[in-house]
Amino acid sequence: MKKYILLMGIIVIGLVSAGCNQANPTINQSNEGNETTGQPSTTIEEQSQQTDKNISGVGHEVVFNFDKQSVMLNSGYEMPIVGLGMYSQLDETAVNSVEYALRNGYRKIDTAKIYGNEAEVGEGIRQSGVPREEIFLASKLYMNQYSKAAEAIDEALAAFEVDYLDLLLLHHPGEHDVEAYQAMEQAVKDGKVRSIGLSNYYIEELTDFLPHVTIMPALIQNEVHPYYQEKEVLDFFTKKGIVMEGWYPLGGRGHTKELFEDPIIAKIADKHQRSSAQIILRWHLQNGVVAIPGSSNPAHISENLAIFDFELTKEEMAQIDALERAEKHDWY
Ligand code: NAD
Repeated sequence: MKKYILLMGIIVIGLVSAGCNQANPTINQSNEGNETTGQPSTTIEEQSQQTDKNISGVGHEVVFNFDKQSVMLNSGYEMPIVGLGMYSQLDETAVNSVEYALRNGYRKIDTAKIYGNEAEVGEGIRQSGVPREEIFLASKLYMNQYSKAAEAIDEALAAFEVDYLDLLLLHHPGEHDVEAYQAMEQAVKDGKVRSIGLSNYYIEELTDFLPHVTIMPALIQNEVHPYYQEKEVLDFFTKKGIVMEGWYPLGGRGHTKELFEDPIIAKIADKHQRSSAQIILRWHLQNGVVAIPGSSNPAHISENLAIFDFELTKEEMAQIDALERAEKHDWY
């Protein structure tokens, strides 16, 4: 009787596990090829390369120029590799930060419709006295603007009081995002926007998105810091000629202390006689990730740009790389 029960048990387990395999066929296919055609099945990277054929800007090589502190985008426009992040800066604070940053060497400002400071950023630009054509102004359309993106672009130009934006991103994947991107493509043709890109799109989101568009995103802005490095995503974007930009480059509000006091980062900072923030920002750049640290503190704004007169060694880069914890500090 015991033997019979054991035998039945083995049969049941066998049937269940066979069922499991059938329920998850893609796992087998991706490893072993397509059984029907005998052809090896394509990886997500190969699928995505096929759709790229119809898109302009393909084949661009992403190279950071440390002497010029810039990178050439696939759109043919040059962009600074350090910018000022404007999240959570409002009113006079926003005007003053932009004015101070521009007067002290910054040439890129990153903001967004949802930050509620477009007019103040525009005011800061004018008060700085730096000519508009020397400034790289980047903003983002929010999801509630996607279904009327053409109008939203005109509204942004009016709010900043500028004739064109250097870069415009979609803030998140969402309903009508393709439609909004197509409106941005039209804005490029109309001279209202110079370069376009995305934010919070990863490998799958980008692969789904590209077949619907005709201009390769110049840049994608995603969360990146030593505890969330996204090396695979960086590699995927770089192969497509897309620049990766890191938001929360210092870990984001509420997390900077932990990163600044990380023993590895603090030790490297001590060795170079630099702040932990400078070490982290330099690590981003040497990894090929553009940094947009946020601050309204003049000393911090200046400090965050003073990272072009020292270099991290290969060993130091590897030590920071090894801090990866896949620890996201925000939900998107
Ligand atoms: P961050 O990682 O840049 O950290 C900002 C915090 O660090 C602030 O509290 C600031 O006071 C502090 N800080 C800055 N420099 C310092 C220094 N040298 N020493 C000590 N403290 C310093 O986080 P963030 O500002 O939220 O992100 C950067 C930018 O990224 C934002 O301003 C925004 O432009 C962008 N962003 C985009 C998204 C998106 O979804 N696309 C999301 C978040 C942020």
